[in-house]
Amino acid sequence: MDWKEVFLSDTTWSLVLQVAVRTIVMFVAVLLLLRASGKKGVRQLSIFEVAIIIALGSAAGDPMFYDDVAIVPCLVVFTVILIVYRLIIWLAAKSERFESIVEGKPVTIIRDGMIELGNKGNSPFAHDEFFAEMRGVNVEHMGQVRMAILETNGSVSFYYFTDEEVKPGLPVIPELYDDHCETITEAGDYSCCYCGHTQSLAQGRHQCKRCDKKDWVKSISTKRIT
Ligand SMILES: [Zn+2]
Repeated sequence: MDWKEVFLSDTTWSLVLQVAVRTIVMFVAVLLLLRASGKKGVRQLSIFEVAIIIALGSAAGDPMFYDDVAIVPCLVVFTVILIVYRLIIWLAAKSERFESIVEGKPVTIIRDGMIELGNKGNSPFAHDEFFAEMRGVNVEHMGQVRMAILETNGSVSFYYFTDEEVKPGLPVIPELYDDHCETITEAGDYSCCYCGHTQSLAQGRHQCKRCDKKDWVKSISTKRIT
C-alpha cells in the first residue's frame, strides 16, 4: 500500500493552511449558531434537537476539508437552520398539539410502585434502562417510587413515597433482581419481574394478577436513604 497516498494524497502546505482557516471559521459559526439558538447548555437533547445538531454537523464539516465547498453557502444553511429552529420553537409555544408532534410527550412510567402497562398489558419501554435511572437516584426498589415520568429529553423525573408510605417492591439492584424465579420455594412477599406488582405468595408457581407473567423476585422494603 502507498502510505503517502493514504495520508497525504496531493496535500500541499497552502491546502493545510486553507483547511485550518476553514475549520476556524466553521467552528466559530457553529458556536455562534448554538448561542443564537437560545439554549443554555446541553444536558440531554430531545429528538428534535438531535435532528438540528445532525443537520448542523453535516453542513459545518464539509467546507472544513473539501476545498471545492465554499463557506458562504454553508453559512446560508446555518442561517436557515437557525430560522427554522426558532420558528418551530415559536410554533410549539403557540400550539400544544404541534409541540407534542415535534418534541413528544412526557410519559408516566411508574405509578404507585408499579410499571405502567399499555393497552395490551405490555410496557412500551426497556426495563433495564429505567432500573439504571432508578439506581442513579438511590432507589433500591420500586416500592419507594410513587411516580416516575419519562420526560421528552430522555431524563426521568421521580416522585417518592415518604418513609411511612414505602411498601415492599421490586428490587432494582442487579444481584437481587437476577435472583428471579418461576417457582416459589419460600413463602413471602414477591414482586412481578415484569410489572413490579407485589403480592404475598405461598410455595409453588403463580401468575401475576396484573400482567399475567410468571416470573418473581423476592420483594424488599428498605427505606430510601439519599
Ligand atoms: Zn406483573
